Amino acid sequence: MTGDMHARAAHLQHLRGRALRKGDPVPLPLTMASTFHLPGEPGAEFDQYGRSENPTWEAAEEMLAYLEDAPGVAFPSGMAAISGVFFSQLKAGDRILLPSDGYYTPRVLAERFMKGLGIEFDLRPTASYLDGGFDGYRLVYVETPSNPGLDLCDIAAVSSAAHAAGAIVCADNTTMTPFGQRPLDFGADILVSADTKAPNGHSDTLFGHVASRNTDIVEAVREWRKLSGSIPGPFEAWLLHRGLETLELRFDRMCSTAGTIAPRLKAHPAVRTVRYPGLPDDPSHNLASTQMLRFGTLIGLTLGSAEKAEKFINDCALLQPATSFGSVHSSAERRARWGDAVEPGFVRLSVGCEPTEELWRAIEQSLDAIR
Ligand SMILES: *Cc1c(COP(=O)(O)O)cnc(C)c1O
Repeated sequence: MTGDMHARAAHLQHLRGRALRKGDPVPLPLTMASTFHLPGEPGAEFDQYGRSENPTWEAAEEMLAYLEDAPGVAFPSGMAAISGVFFSQLKAGDRILLPSDGYYTPRVLAERFMKGLGIEFDLRPTASYLDGGFDGYRLVYVETPSNPGLDLCDIAAVSSAAHAAGAIVCADNTTMTPFGQRPLDFGADILVSADTKAPNGHSDTLFGHVASRNTDIVEAVREWRKLSGSIPGPFEAWLLHRGLETLELRFDRMCSTAGTIAPRLKAHPAVRTVRYPGLPDDPSHNLASTQMLRFGTLIGLTLGSAEKAEKFINDCALLQPATSFGSVHSSAERRARWGDAVEPGFVRLSVGCEPTEELWRAIEQSLDAIR
């Protein structure tokens, strides 16, 4: 991680403290309110109604904005943030490009609801995202590393080619967090993230955000949130605020452990293939070294069969069988069970915060049992 991000991680802990008055609580109060005291003409700090503003969201947004170095708009889930971008930025006649191998729900949203509004979409694999150019697109959506296959695309190259073709670029940065990758610094216009994953980090809430350095985009997204009512709950925002306080610490441990165990997995006889951008011979490694600050917390491994993969996951004492990723506990799942275009024995491993050698011993034991 760069020195700049270390400084950001340090000052993040003191953002709230800077504005405290004598007698204020040091931790963030949870403000559960739909209405605010409002006699006479509007004009107080929180002058309207719980659909437009809430001090607890604003504290979470302040942290997100500090981390992204760009204004942030909080949403009740990652998909709500992505929808906020699509529905505030697109209109009938627009065409968008989506990754064929990324998180699947945006593709379903495009097919099921956006098409009917006159917004067309095309799909392209992440590893060859630049091939074919971006003429005719209003919005180019990238997800790098792609989830679950962990292919990469060059954010700077995609952004400059897309801009030359007149498109805006939206990057889903969920898998990397602001501590692992900074798409806005590489030219992306909009960043979306499912803070449900590592930013919250405890598998107990859904959350999302949009960030952009373009004021028109931020204002449109904020207005869409208010008009559509797609607002986060104050308690969820409070949980995210708390989660963000330890994100750097957790993400650091998770990435370090992933980097330690990826080559060991690769060397294990029960494992056919491993994808991890931090492995020197991974097809993504060179690009990862130029655009990622860390190599991430997800490892893709292919085992001999669906049955072996299930046994590996379910019999491992330190793996939680679950979908989703980025939590304090390590978890794993066989992605083919959802229809992802991966081999039946492909496992997406989400490395958690357990001490590294304990986690490796449990994983190794479970792999030894399926050799
Ligand atoms: C989980 C996820 C989402 C959606 O987030 P939700 O909070 O479940 O709506 C979007 N993109 C990626 C890459 C994800 O992993």
